[in-house]
Amino acid sequence: MEIHCTEKEQFIFKKIAHAATEMGAPAFIIGGFVRDKILGRESKDVDIVTVGDGIDLAKKVAERFKPRPQVNFFKNFGTAHIRAEDLDIEFVGARKESYKYHSRNPEVVPGTLEEDQNRRDFTINAMAVSLNEIDYGKLVDPFNGMEDIKNKIIRTPSDPTYTFSDDPLRMMRAIRFASQLQFEIHEETFQGIKTNVERIRIVSQERITEEFNKILLSIKPSVGLDLLYQSGLLHIIFPQMIDLAGAEYKDGLGHKDNFYHTLQVIDNISIHTNDLWIRWSALLHDIGKPATKKFEDGHGWTFHGHEVVGARMVPKIFRKLKLPMDEKMRMVQKLVELHLRPISLTKENITDSAIRRLLFDAGEDLEALLMLCRADITSKNKVKVKRYLENFTMVEERLNEVEEKDRIRNWQPPITGEIIMSTFNIPPSRVVGDIKNAIRDAILDGAIENSYEAAFELMIQKANELGLNGKNN
Ligand code: ATP
Ligand code: MG
Repeated sequence: MEIHCTEKEQFIFKKIAHAATEMGAPAFIIGGFVRDKILGRESKDVDIVTVGDGIDLAKKVAERFKPRPQVNFFKNFGTAHIRAEDLDIEFVGARKESYKYHSRNPEVVPGTLEEDQNRRDFTINAMAVSLNEIDYGKLVDPFNGMEDIKNKIIRTPSDPTYTFSDDPLRMMRAIRFASQLQFEIHEETFQGIKTNVERIRIVSQERITEEFNKILLSIKPSVGLDLLYQSGLLHIIFPQMIDLAGAEYKDGLGHKDNFYHTLQVIDNISIHTNDLWIRWSALLHDIGKPATKKFEDGHGWTFHGHEVVGARMVPKIFRKLKLPMDEKMRMVQKLVELHLRPISLTKENITDSAIRRLLFDAGEDLEALLMLCRADITSKNKVKVKRYLENFTMVEERLNEVEEKDRIRNWQPPITGEIIMSTFNIPPSRVVGDIKNAIRDAILDGAIENSYEAAFELMIQKANELGLNGKNN
């Protein structure tokens, strides 16, 4: 074979080859698997294309395994899937395609291998490996994808303008591959994206977001994010990020370009974590800045409250992008809201109570928060960065010390809303929250002891102040 496969893979491919020969239908490994093998990347998804019926071939292949794997197929698309060993194998008949202008759904017409390769998105994704007797293992590479792999280039096999207009999702894929593989997009191909950015509107939000997340999960996400920006795609799919771009000057005072600052923060954090949602928090940490930007005479640019405004924007952005509206979103929101807090604790004379408050507010997301704050230090001045980081280490030590002593992170105040409601016989209401918060604050501030008795006493006192008594409420 002209690609290097493990013995297990060889064994499986032989079975596919035999089944194909028996049916008299040529078969090839194609696309991502071939590309990834050449690049030496791990790949468990195999696409098999046959000049014949993909579903029939999948069934015949399945018969050759014991136990026989299940064949899942989609009649409408003419595709079938089996799982063999740890490989997910997808079978499809070779096809030529033509697209309808207003949708991404192509009309499927059977075709030759060459026609099938023609409709593939990039030269590096169009390579096939023969599974046929006459030339078993031979690379079929009509667009010289091998050369583009060597030169690290993303390029469409045919005219980029048509390629991207036919299926605009390919624009996102081009940028995703550039970011994932650290390849460059060929000039004409990139021009083709610029020409077609408006066409992205016919692609479903789910597919756009799927590619966007892959960009965010790449080794250096700034590569893909900057390409999205440069191409004009970002303006359409994520306008709030565009609002971060640019630096304004007044009276000789400027502020940093928050778009490129954000990209730097994402790259910084990506060195330390592959967690998509922590990366999302880096992406969104300053998203409230444009809305809060002010110029204060004699002082310069300020962004007061941008963390609060930003946190409020998170659910809206998640909903629009069809990201999950669950505890992941709430974590991102919390990290955005708290991202200035640890830094604010680097000033001198910080009380234990301020440290306890942060431990309580960050709870189980404290490590993620500290990671975000470290990543947020992007000054070009090395001395400054060093000083920030040293101060920061001190804050972390304080946090550890206080947590060791007071165990705040998983702590819950001893008086719950239920206790308050049943003691005073009142329904859920604002006062319940007020009393609960007063108790929590008093304990975090060290004003009362962290015990049920002390908390109960304070509850009664607060309730009296508010005119509550257990009988007539
Ligand atoms: P990955 O699996 O990492 O997402 P991939 O290249 O394998 O990358 P798939 O979506 O699995 O991507 O698609 C498999 C193959 O199908 C691709 O390599 C490419 O040849 C072809 N392909 C996928 N999507 C498109 C598209 N939108 N337009 C043209 N060809 C495509
Ligand atoms: Mg794949």
